[in-house]
Amino acid sequence: MGDKSSIEWTEATWNPVAGCTVTSPGCTNCYAMRLARRLEAMGQPKYAGTTRISGDRPKWNGVIRLDEGALSLPKSWKTGRAIFVNSMSDLFHEKVPLNFIRRVFDTMWETPQHTYQILTKRAERLEELSENLDWPSNAWMGVSVENADYAYRIEHLRRTGAPVKFLSLEPLLGPLEDLNLTEIDWVIAGGESGPGARPMNATWLRSIRDRCEAANVPFHFKQWGGVNKKKSGRTLDGRIWDQFPAPAAV
Ligand code: SF4
Repeated sequence: MGDKSSIEWTEATWNPVAGCTVTSPGCTNCYAMRLARRLEAMGQPKYAGTTRISGDRPKWNGVIRLDEGALSLPKSWKTGRAIFVNSMSDLFHEKVPLNFIRRVFDTMWETPQHTYQILTKRAERLEELSENLDWPSNAWMGVSVENADYAYRIEHLRRTGAPVKFLSLEPLLGPLEDLNLTEIDWVIAGGESGPGARPMNATWLRSIRDRCEAANVPFHFKQWGGVNKKKSGRTLDGRIWDQFPAPAAV
């Protein structure tokens, strides 16, 4: 894995780590978990043994594989790209050693032509390690928040040294009425897609969009989701919300 991405808010994926563990309700239908199973079946050793079958579905089994060979991959991409770091894992998973995270950061420093988008649900560890990391200006750090029970992750993010901080409110599973956007540079929101997708209420989404507008924070609406995400589209109140952080924030 390490090339063009169909994810609306990025251009490429880069996976120096493979494997994860489900940690909160947003993980239940984790796309990466299903994809890892398929990649293993296709003979990709990087994903071998990272999932097990639970019921009739693949589930991460907690095996984390550090891919040393992938660390330098972005150096071979000469033209600048927006790169989603670890679409197949969580960089701040407890089994990823600090030294390895530092090497990921070294690559970011060495490739200033790119913009790196890192997303975690391990916000406590992110904050804990932040002062031991040398943050390059091309690192955008985000936390995933699926409902109000996990809004505390935003507080951890705020206390890091990341130069650009963003939220991924996806899959949005509940209202976020008290969303605090202080020091937040970008918000992505979207509904769940694929088999067993849980519904997103338009009221939850509008309330987030309105808060972003009031706070002048760029808002990116990824998708309504559902079983057929192409059909449900990504229009909200007659327009596409494709905003990104202003260059000045980067
Ligand atoms: S943290 Fe991310 S990669 Fe890991 S199980 Fe949850 S959704 Fe999947």
